Amino acid sequence: MTDAQKYITAVQEKLAQKGAWEQEFLQAVQEFLPTIVPFLEEHPEYIEKDIVSLLVEPERIIQFRVPWQDDEGKRQVNRGYRVQFNSALGPYKGGLRLHPSVNLSILKFLGFEQVFKNSLTDLGIGGGKGGSDFDPKGKSDDEIMRFCQSFMTELARHIGPSLDVPAGDIGVGGREIGFLFGMYKRLQQYDAGVLTGKPLNFGGSLIRTEATGYGLVYFVKHLLADQGTTLKGKKVILSGSGNVSIYAIEKLIELGAIPLTCSDSNGCIYDPAGIDLALLKEIKEVKRERLTSYQAARPEAQYMEGSVWDQDIAADIALPCATQNEINGTQAQNFINHGVKLVAEGANMPSSNEAIALYLANDVYYGPAKAANAGGVAVSALEMSQNAQRLSWSREEVDHRLDDIMENIFLTCRNTAERYGLKNNYVAGANIASFEKVAHAMLLQGLV
Ligand code: GLU
Repeated sequence: MTDAQKYITAVQEKLAQKGAWEQEFLQAVQEFLPTIVPFLEEHPEYIEKDIVSLLVEPERIIQFRVPWQDDEGKRQVNRGYRVQFNSALGPYKGGLRLHPSVNLSILKFLGFEQVFKNSLTDLGIGGGKGGSDFDPKGKSDDEIMRFCQSFMTELARHIGPSLDVPAGDIGVGGREIGFLFGMYKRLQQYDAGVLTGKPLNFGGSLIRTEATGYGLVYFVKHLLADQGTTLKGKKVILSGSGNVSIYAIEKLIELGAIPLTCSDSNGCIYDPAGIDLALLKEIKEVKRERLTSYQAARPEAQYMEGSVWDQDIAADIALPCATQNEINGTQAQNFINHGVKLVAEGANMPSSNEAIALYLANDVYYGPAKAANAGGVAVSALEMSQNAQRLSWSREEVDHRLDDIMENIFLTCRNTAERYGLKNNYVAGANIASFEKVAHAMLLQGLV
């Protein structure tokens, strides 16, 4: 073992001893650290200063109770969190997730990923994440509002436009951001820059809702262009039916690809003629219904229970856009056997480490989440710029900037991988390039 390998193994072991139950966080660290060994070997100063031990420790974690009353007048309580992971490059930035699975391990993994993702955008943002184990499913608008108001009553004192700027994630969209914003301004003062993903009529940015999905497809477009091909006619299997999946489908159709699938937590749709986007939007965005309604309206499509990754569908590209660990090794092998040559991640950590190893072993082009889905947070940073300027940019301007940012991120991954003799290994490229950006800033700021 080289010095660098010994060093990262020791850091990982120490971390596992401190919190063996933090499975998702340990998984994210385990995916990341081995890939930066080639960089550490060239730069022993980062080992001497023990920067990696600092990097795996959040700067601050805030945990609080969130009491609220349901529509029957019954008292409820949930756990709220904000993990302020790293501010070496700018104010903490990252979403809030509302989902019953939320715990500190999940928020630490998301915060850790966010730090590096955000650095790849080159827009001067640190990384954080927050949320609650509150389950928005089946709740009325008023219940959502009361929960958001209570959540912000505590969170407001910890955030600010130059300190920490939350946004959406699973379970948090424009409606929730609106309620959170309304409460923030009552408690502090009006400042549009304190949250991103706002509705358009009070400081939101055009394209923010679409940004993660569009950005994901732009990343794939630039990767394919680098290989001398395009999206035209490519068959794409996707998971999820939230804003990432919906707007990835929209951009795929625009660029001539054929999106075949989407999914929710119960099952998936396979539409051999290509997903009907208008129908999908109506079901998910207007009616907020389950995907069984899609099949009811379009009998030629198939609805199948279970994961989309277990199905027998031939495709060229896979875009997981649902949630963490949705693809295990068996499922990765299944779609590789069905022809998939490119995987790009719209969700955060959707592939298990076993699945990632299979992509690399089978020469599948792999765009990891922190690069491929950075378009969402990038447009959040553009929203912060517009709020600071008190201007709003046109759709075309934001979309054009997003495409440029995704091209730069792709080129950073590609060139960094090549520079370390790891051609086409975009995960190593993304990890090394982002580590270098964050760790260098930390080195210059001293032991803080
Ligand atoms: N939750 C999104 C992500 O995973 C976006 C965060 C943001 O816009 O701040 O990157």
